[in-house]
Amino acid sequence: MKINIIGGGPAGMYYAILMKKAYASHNITVYERNGPDDTFGWGVVFSGKTLANLRTADEESHAAITRAFAAWDNVDVVHRNEKISIHGNSFSGIARLQLLKILQQRCQELGVEVKFRTEIPDVETLRTSCDLLVAADGVNSTARKQYSDHFRPALDIRPNRYIWFGTNKLFHGLTLTFRENEAGVFAAHSYKFNQTTSTFIIECDQQTWNAAGFSAMSETATRHYLEQVFAADLQGEPLLSNNSKWINFLLVKNEKWFFGNVVMIGDALHTAHFSIGSGTKLALEDAIALFECFQNTKTTADALDRFESTRKPVIEAYQAAAFDSMRWFESAREYMHLSPIELAFALMTRSGRVDYEDLQRRDPEFIARYESAQA
Ligand SMILES: Cc1cc2nc3c(=O)[nH]c(=O)nc-3n(C[C@H](O)[C@H](O)[C@H](O)COP(=O)(O)OP(=O)(O)OC[C@H]3O[C@@H](n4cnc5c(N)ncnc54)[C@H](O)[C@@H]3O)c2cc1C
Repeated sequence: MKINIIGGGPAGMYYAILMKKAYASHNITVYERNGPDDTFGWGVVFSGKTLANLRTADEESHAAITRAFAAWDNVDVVHRNEKISIHGNSFSGIARLQLLKILQQRCQELGVEVKFRTEIPDVETLRTSCDLLVAADGVNSTARKQYSDHFRPALDIRPNRYIWFGTNKLFHGLTLTFRENEAGVFAAHSYKFNQTTSTFIIECDQQTWNAAGFSAMSETATRHYLEQVFAADLQGEPLLSNNSKWINFLLVKNEKWFFGNVVMIGDALHTAHFSIGSGTKLALEDAIALFECFQNTKTTADALDRFESTRKPVIEAYQAAAFDSMRWFESAREYMHLSPIELAFALMTRSGRVDYEDLQRRDPEFIARYESAQA
């Protein structure tokens, strides 16, 4: 079988690994526009449960990934200069580049051909020269655009702006920090992902963004402005830019997930707001799900059909939880009147996936503090 994969991100490479490992004679090629050392962003975070799936799917890459992990159990919420810690959660962080390096290495060991610095402008040529074309080409997928009549995508540009920085200030835990100034409300999502660096994503609503005057600010001026907003948190460490730019989150859904011999996986197919930290997890799990469909069916058509029918409900449930979480951050200014402990409780329960009982189990001390504040 000849398989072409567009996109050497987590989804495309992981799918290539699983298929090549199970079917050594398959001819599998990954086409990636960037070089092996290029990346955007800093670290990504995983929830505890993801790891078990990865171990079952491919022990070798799981071992390398978990060796590189920074792990923690606390969510810290900072509001009005007070930090509230909620324990009993399970997260791990890894540099995106390191994750990609591990997957690249595994592709090489198994004999997957990865063609770096190869842009695919015309998907049709690639499609007609293989048995299966996997479009793992990310949120701005070329394949999704080219075959939009088949996939029928629904794209929703969300109103908040966000910008992804790094910093050498280490945040030991998933830290959600709220700061207000004359322009409005800023939220930062930060976490350490190796011994020296943390991810530091800042988001704000359009009103705040306009009032701060970012549209007329240079990249350096923007960074300095935000360093001032979060001065108490960064404690003198600068924000590190990696071509960091303000963007609006794009919520992606697709009515159809495949047609003929083409299927989409990962961000090309669906996105979930970064506040629930599951984009990479979902991309890797898509790869596992698609691989399993090929193992359990006899034809490509059946495998793709099964992939859509079994995976779609799972993704819809995630997207629903992520939507509630995203809406919470979009209306963060409405919660700023809450005390720090009330804000922490509202934040922990925002997506409907964690409730009072869960928090009671995870961190009884936090719930006791919350109860006494309520009383
Ligand atoms: C601010 C922010 C924070 C995030 N934080 C987290 C987090 O904490 N945890 C988490 O799990 N996820 C996080 N994510 C999401 C995560 O980055 C993505 O969900 C994940 O990378 C999706 O993997 P993918 O393989 O589907 O796509 P991508 O990682 O986007 O990979 C797609 C690849 O395809 C290549 N490509 C695209 N078009 C072409 C073409 N025409 N020809 C050749 N190559 C092409 C691109 O260069 C890219 O390498 C975050 C995202 C954002 C924006």
